Amino acid sequence: MALSVLSGLLLASAPITPIVVAADGVLCDITRTLAGKSAKVECLIPPGADPHTLALRPTDRRALQQARLVLINGYNLTPALKRIATSAPVVAVAERAVPKASTADPHVWHDPNQASAMVATGAQALTPIVSPQERAALNRRRVAMTSVLQALQQWTGRQIESVPKPQRVLVTEHRAFSAFGRRYGVRELPVIDSYATGGILRPASLRAITEAIRQSGSKAIFAEALPPSKTLRRISRSSGLPIAKQALFADGQAPGKSLIQTATSNVCTFVLAQGGRCNQQAAAELQTRWAAIR
Ligand SMILES: [Zn+2]
Repeated sequence: MALSVLSGLLLASAPITPIVVAADGVLCDITRTLAGKSAKVECLIPPGADPHTLALRPTDRRALQQARLVLINGYNLTPALKRIATSAPVVAVAERAVPKASTADPHVWHDPNQASAMVATGAQALTPIVSPQERAALNRRRVAMTSVLQALQQWTGRQIESVPKPQRVLVTEHRAFSAFGRRYGVRELPVIDSYATGGILRPASLRAITEAIRQSGSKAIFAEALPPSKTLRRISRSSGLPIAKQALFADGQAPGKSLIQTATSNVCTFVLAQGGRCNQQAAAELQTRWAAIR
């Protein structure tokens, strides 16, 4: 009896850490880094998984039911999140942060300035959820994250400048780098989205893709997973262009990597395959700064 009264008192006085669901895109790292220990952040989509075809698992539905706040990318990055069962507020972070993005490309975070805007929106959504004592620290982390993303923005620009202008073209499978392309003057050529309709690649589509790639000036084709798909290997044979040795991470964070490491890895993969140089040491310093945010 006494024990149960005591445990009841303990429960009542212990602060309850709110659960926040960070669903898709790069929100897992953004939200965890922003929240620190002030919220328990549940990430729905495993790194490397495809958000476009995701189906929610029972554990995801449970997390959504328990959440005090649900952060999704929006712009229909993950169609499975369109109708979710939760009583918590749902914030479409990319839509709110970057209201004028092209609806054809929900991957707005590949422009570090836009990732920065997502950090601001995430912080705004988290503020009423965390305890009042935690709010100053949350704001401090937001400022530190913004500063690293500004440095990422400049670092990326310098790496792209090392690529000869005719090779500033990104041949990929699906449209995911239009924000990146706009920011850095890189022409995006998403061959499957542009010339194919899904399923097996038809000969006419393959011819159109081959022609577009040959005229693009690109020195390589970029896979989004390794080993590359059969379709991409066919395109590589037909166009005579090699597939870059590293994959690009278009849909979220690379497995085991932060938002910063994913972004710098993508940039290095691109510039090295297109005849530019990549400053890996400066990239590692950005990651060190990001990882030190507490
Ligand atoms: Zn995508």
